[in-house]
Amino acid sequence: NKGDEIYRTLISEAEKQGVKDQVQIVKTGCFGFCEKGPIVKVLPEDSFYVEVQPKDAPEIIAEQIVKGREVKRLLYQGDGPKSSTAVEDIEFYQKQVRVVLRNCGVINPESIDEYIAREGYVGLEKVLFQMKAEDVIEELKVSGLRGRGGAGFPTWLKWDLTRKETNPVKYVVCNADEGDPGAYMDRSTIEGDPHSIIEAMTICGKTVGANQGYVYIRAEYPLAIDRLKIALNQARDYGLLGKNILESGFDFDIEIRLGAGAFVCGEETALIKSLEGQRGMPIPKPPFPAASGLWGKPTVINNVETFANIPVVLTKGGEWLAKIGTEKSKGTKVFALTGKVKNSGLVEVPMGTTLRDIVFDIGGGIKDGKKFKGVQTGGPSGGILTEKTLDTPIDYESLTSLGSMMGSGGMIVMDEDDCVVDVSRFYMEFCVDESCGKCSPCRIGTTQIKDILEKISRGNGEMEDLAKLEDIGKAMTKASLCMLGGSAANPTLSTVKNFKDEYLEHIVDKK
Ligand code: SF4
Repeated sequence: NKGDEIYRTLISEAEKQGVKDQVQIVKTGCFGFCEKGPIVKVLPEDSFYVEVQPKDAPEIIAEQIVKGREVKRLLYQGDGPKSSTAVEDIEFYQKQVRVVLRNCGVINPESIDEYIAREGYVGLEKVLFQMKAEDVIEELKVSGLRGRGGAGFPTWLKWDLTRKETNPVKYVVCNADEGDPGAYMDRSTIEGDPHSIIEAMTICGKTVGANQGYVYIRAEYPLAIDRLKIALNQARDYGLLGKNILESGFDFDIEIRLGAGAFVCGEETALIKSLEGQRGMPIPKPPFPAASGLWGKPTVINNVETFANIPVVLTKGGEWLAKIGTEKSKGTKVFALTGKVKNSGLVEVPMGTTLRDIVFDIGGGIKDGKKFKGVQTGGPSGGILTEKTLDTPIDYESLTSLGSMMGSGGMIVMDEDDCVVDVSRFYMEFCVDESCGKCSPCRIGTTQIKDILEKISRGNGEMEDLAKLEDIGKAMTKASLCMLGGSAANPTLSTVKNFKDEYLEHIVDKK
């Protein structure tokens, strides 16, 4: 692709200008600033060329050399016209704190040495040789880390429940089945820093007493899968995976399992069924996977972002992470900021950052001078937040109290031209397609709501349809077997509540 062309052109240009020994040109992971990609970053200056095109390569190389800087590295990420700016001057990054994405756009993700050079595998070494399992659990407890897959369950408790199980066979599973429309946090994390997931899963295995891990990742992520495979092989070559890791007597290995793209397989019990080779359908809980998960054995399942925090907690200490964030939600959260915002991209902010900071300072505000209308957080399980909520500090509790949810981190910004009825219909169509059909509140409820929303969109809605939407939505929330159905009505319920006038316009004005 064009990105590779830039990479090759930078290399040949460095050769042509006789400076190939002075500069390393390497591929890296996501810088987050997708709107301005492709990006070439220069280290150690930490300056950026944005929207780079292959034709810009001679100038980039010449400029760095002429300026007389000692150019250590050019990190390449793609194609487009260029301009150079220091990272600290870019507003997009000023309110961000990169913990999960600490290595993305900094290291070559295909080099284990570069990961190790940034304190990689230091946490694992501590866990293997210096810490008892109870110490690891305590460190996690102090950190306040909660599951980033959406539910926000305390990570230490999940691990401790599995640790205390007496079954000699246990498993560690990484849920990389990211399926929310507009979300790409997990994909980018694995593409940019695959060793952080391997290190975290191995730490988890040692702590809970598991010897086998699985990464369940959707097959639509070929680059992430390739980089994970490379990283797994490197870790094995370095004795960091497999038999007798670093001669500690501990065995642990990880296999990759590809998901076929069913949204419901992000739900942990459905994911387990799929891993077992069965149809990916949720089952009732309890028993929870911590006690009876993969093949009936105690299993820890965390998502990519949760795992990416683990090496940092072990290296810097739980207190370090706990200083970031709010009282109940510690650390940072990665969001995929998309929609009608000027700077779309992957952003990582401390918990407690307001929506206004994310949309207007980091995101640069609304495109084309339009007015802000709302933000969908949590994908098809979340709700649309209005202007009134822009100054609410974002954490698990605040989003739930506003009728939305953290979800895994999709954040879609809407402007005055977006129709909330259309948006609700889109999400409900998605849920109709993705419902596994096992329980009737979800199977029937999603279709009923979709039909009513279509009717309202066509201008054939009746006043009593609004009450029907609420009744069906509440029934689905209460009675569905898993969270897909349990939260599928959120976009509809939140818009009926927050944008009632717009529904009424469709019903009354189109008559
Ligand atoms: Fe399947 Fe929906 Fe029921 Fe979940 S809520 S089990 S996705 S039918």
